[in-house]
Amino acid sequence: MANGTKYFIGNWKMFGIPSSYKIIDRVNGYFSKDKKNNGKYKVIFAPPFTLLQVFSNKYKKKKIDISAQNCFYKDNFGAHTGNVSSFMLKKIGINYIILGHSENRALGETDSILENKVSIAVKNNFNIIFCIGENKKDKKNKKTLNVLKKQISKVLKKKYNFKKIIIAYEPIWSIGSGKVPSPNELKKTIIFLKDFIRRKFRLSYQPKLLYGGSVDKNIIDIFKSIKELDGFLVGGASKSSKNFIDIIKNFYK
Ligand code: PEP
Repeated sequence: MANGTKYFIGNWKMFGIPSSYKIIDRVNGYFSKDKKNNGKYKVIFAPPFTLLQVFSNKYKKKKIDISAQNCFYKDNFGAHTGNVSSFMLKKIGINYIILGHSENRALGETDSILENKVSIAVKNNFNIIFCIGENKKDKKNKKTLNVLKKQISKVLKKKYNFKKIIIAYEPIWSIGSGKVPSPNELKKTIIFLKDFIRRKFRLSYQPKLLYGGSVDKNIIDIFKSIKELDGFLVGGASKSSKNFIDIIKNFYK
């Protein structure tokens, strides 16, 4: 069972302008004053590239962390118009990065591209939120576990420090759809994944596993019973401070 810190991570995707810091400010206000917290949970926001430097400075001394949503598959500088390397992100004070989000996979991000991205992010000492998830067809054909195993095996390496890699299980059919796996189904998948990762990479500790897909303040209740879950990656509902705070409140109610 996972008794450690839970993660509540907000993925803003293509959302946010400079004044959107107010959303994070309100969440930070709640988070810093929540007496019940005491290290129980951690809050991270992933705004778009345009806001990363300003936000990373703004929240440097705060409890909240700022994450990037992606990076290029080559490091340092280079002739790659419109792209940003993890080296460049590190230099503006970013320590977390989401990689492998299904919306990027859908645009052509392959396992081999991800292998490079993760390897470079590891080299730059990032905490990586690595997304995996099956699509509707995989689920229908009962291929979920095979797909997830493959997504992990093709990208992650035994030599990595898995204390710095958080796996986010995000079924594609659940993202933005309002549909979520049943608690029983999710619990089984999470236990399977933890066991698979622990054995495959010979870990002496439990890897961190998050769930993502249509998490909001109303649905969060059903996940409370899954003690093995280490937290949530939240898309749509992270664009409202009230929704995001209510997710945390309802989870600990
Ligand atoms: C996501 O895309 O990471 C996500 C979980 O989105 P949503 O919460 O909107 O389903």
